[in-house]
Amino acid sequence: MSARTVRTTCPYCGVGCGVLATRNPDGSVAIEGDPDHPANFGRLCSKGSALGETTGLDGRLLYPQIDGNRADWNEALDLIASTFGKTIAEHGPGSVAFYVSGQMLTEDYYAANKLMKGYIGAANIDTNSRLCMASSVAGHRRAFGADIVPGCYEDLELADTVVLVGSNLIWCHPVLYQRVAAAKAKRPDLRVVLIDPRRTRTADLADLHLAVEPDGDVALFNGLLRWIGERGLSEPGWIDANTVDFGAAMDEAAKWTVDRVMRATGLARNEIEEFYRLWTGRERVVTAYSQGVNKSGVGTDKVSAIINCHLATARIGRPGMGPFSLTGQPNAMGGREVGGLANMLAAHMEIENAEDRDRVQRFWGSPTIASSPGPKAVDMFRAVAEGQIKALWIMATNPVVSMPEADMVAEAIANCPFVVVSDVVGSTDTARHAIVLLPSLAWGEKDGTVTNSERRISRQRPFLPPPGEAKADWWQMAEIGKRMGWRDAFSWAGASAVFSEYAALTAFENGGRRDLDIGACAKLDRAAYDAMPPFQWPQPHKLDPTRRARFFAGGGFFTFDGKARFVAVSAPESFTQTIGIFRLNTGRVRDQWHTMTRTAKAPRLNAHYAEPYCEIHPEDAAHLAIADADLVRLSGFGSEAMVRALLTASQKPGNVFAPMHWNGETASSARINALVAAVTDPVSGQPALKGSMVSVERANFACHGFAVTRERPATSGLDYWALARCEGGWRLEFALRVEPAAKTDFINRLLGSAHGGGSEPLTSEDRHRGFWRTARFGANRLLGVGYLARSLVTVSRSWAVAQLAENFADSRPRWRILAGQPASDMPDKGAIVCACMNVGANEIATAARSGCATVAAIGGATRAGTNCGSCTAEIAEIIHANRLVAAE
Ligand code: SF4
Repeated sequence: MSARTVRTTCPYCGVGCGVLATRNPDGSVAIEGDPDHPANFGRLCSKGSALGETTGLDGRLLYPQIDGNRADWNEALDLIASTFGKTIAEHGPGSVAFYVSGQMLTEDYYAANKLMKGYIGAANIDTNSRLCMASSVAGHRRAFGADIVPGCYEDLELADTVVLVGSNLIWCHPVLYQRVAAAKAKRPDLRVVLIDPRRTRTADLADLHLAVEPDGDVALFNGLLRWIGERGLSEPGWIDANTVDFGAAMDEAAKWTVDRVMRATGLARNEIEEFYRLWTGRERVVTAYSQGVNKSGVGTDKVSAIINCHLATARIGRPGMGPFSLTGQPNAMGGREVGGLANMLAAHMEIENAEDRDRVQRFWGSPTIASSPGPKAVDMFRAVAEGQIKALWIMATNPVVSMPEADMVAEAIANCPFVVVSDVVGSTDTARHAIVLLPSLAWGEKDGTVTNSERRISRQRPFLPPPGEAKADWWQMAEIGKRMGWRDAFSWAGASAVFSEYAALTAFENGGRRDLDIGACAKLDRAAYDAMPPFQWPQPHKLDPTRRARFFAGGGFFTFDGKARFVAVSAPESFTQTIGIFRLNTGRVRDQWHTMTRTAKAPRLNAHYAEPYCEIHPEDAAHLAIADADLVRLSGFGSEAMVRALLTASQKPGNVFAPMHWNGETASSARINALVAAVTDPVSGQPALKGSMVSVERANFACHGFAVTRERPATSGLDYWALARCEGGWRLEFALRVEPAAKTDFINRLLGSAHGGGSEPLTSEDRHRGFWRTARFGANRLLGVGYLARSLVTVSRSWAVAQLAENFADSRPRWRILAGQPASDMPDKGAIVCACMNVGANEIATAARSGCATVAAIGGATRAGTNCGSCTAEIAEIIHANRLVAAE
């Protein structure tokens, strides 16, 4: 390891992988997985591997701004403090709010929560984790008495049966997928069950895929509980000693015969019974669940139905068994720990509990403490819309893209009298509405801690200097606290002081009564904080990073009587389907993160899916006269999105899937959550982001186009567009409702907007077949090429993009650009499958046809799939398809 290498943690998903970051003398950043980090042991996924490509300063917000004009920090902070102070004085503490984020570090979160709940005196702070994990939190709290994930990652490797519910592990928690896949390769008897309406790529690892109807999970697990009871498979002694309300849960479960489960889930009897046998017939079972469980109107009940089965069989807290919530964000857990949710206090203490409120207030020595829960995210933005919240501070998140009913949210923010946005980029859909914009530190500059899904606290360490005048989020909050009159409470010397204070609060009057105790860190000095290794909580006394902590094998729940609660949960009897209306499932793609503000900077991460899309079953598509790659209009909740249709039988008929990443910077109309009604789980307040109804129709355009440009092209005047960075430039898909009179001039203008001229354009047109093409060159390099056609543009995208790197001294290949295809003696990668090694589908298919029959053999021939492994399922599919071709 070089002396310049810094151990830090990936800022994307909740796996929380350790990263070795090395700043090279030329300013570039080299990234490797940390072989000593217990979350990943050196592995990284495609997103983690590309982190070094996202640290550039293009697009960065470097200075505070007020009303779009550069301001200095004092001016901006004074304005925020005085406006918040005045608003509170006139309208009360409920008139101001913070909307924060699972992207923030624990120290940032702690400072925000302390300021709002302990000093302003309202619980008007909620977080985008509400959109992600709130139902798990609620399910944990009502069963265990505290928000605890009982197990460890190694349980996924030790289990005999791993059940994945609503979890596309291979794309959303890729390194955990790799760990499970490696365990299964070593121990083929390990069984994997996937419960998901979609046949995602994760299904390739599964021995059994249950394509359950959306929200059929409660019925399925109620049926499992009945199966357990009927066959005498429960653990009565353990249940009696450690739980209450088993009888009530069994009474409800008793209604769930297999026949009834079949009706409610759409599954066949043999599928259900095979699952029940795999679950009950093997001692070590982990039920891991993620957004398919949480992002539902019945998410908390789903969590309870799963936990009930683990409690009934005492399969909890022992190696290889337990319910396991996989968090989406890098620090969703850390935020929950310090009270980032509107219904929690810091250090897992409860806002409804007077003793807890008193304890936290005494610890802080604060003048007040919030006395009741504040509005959860959806209600918070409704309160903004209704004018009850008049000053809003949004930190490290982009609710104009990510919230349901996102158009309403945009309007609410736009009309809010005072909006502060702290972010690393100033051009997000949300930042556009800010009165005060504050530049925050980005990954690589931040200094603090995050907690991953297995309760492991890791350091994010800086290895880049703060650019411009960017400042830490905790510092911004602390400066406002000081300016509002609470200087002593917010005068931390640095991130380590914030962390030590938080650690001391977890231990304050604890004595083992509360789950979260990291008292061992309460007296860490700066040097010890800097050196702090990753560790799992609890750590009440001496810090021991080797400790594996599991909860509840012997009971000891955090309820008043120490017993867990079974929760009787009911489920709809049967699913319904309305002809012509589709259930919209929103989610993630392999290589993008949230609203793309970081991942879209890395060209190789855009190569997997460069355009927003919607998966639709071929039968549904046929009814709607939609062909593969047509543009389709999705309509719902008064909003529309325009995306590319991908026909796939992996999608259930009557359901469509669309990624939630694209935003106003990357596509003309693809903020998919604008189509989602803000229906929430009644217990957790989490929005049902996978359960909205939309209509789907083919969108007709007169012309379609594709362009590759060295500079960013202007998109004004295009009726549909999707823009992505590629290696050396930009790639643009577009469509027009009205055919331009002068097509070649139109393309020329498009290319000219990117380059302001260049050499004489090279053009070709075929009016009969409806094709127009233009390329511009400068200094023997391609400046840009545009293709326009009356039908879909059939151009090899990855080949066209690769031409930006070619030298065109010879005039002959220039014409080849216009053809849009390589010559037969030139390679065409095809669509990129392996982002890490830049290997395309055509290269993999060629290797498969020449005899590579396994993913490993393809890896040997092409290097595809040899780094992060996130693409192995796609490689397997190409091998399979080419086997079928060979057999024909
Ligand atoms: Fe980052 Fe990938 Fe690890 Fe998640 S799995 S923490 S995105 S490297």
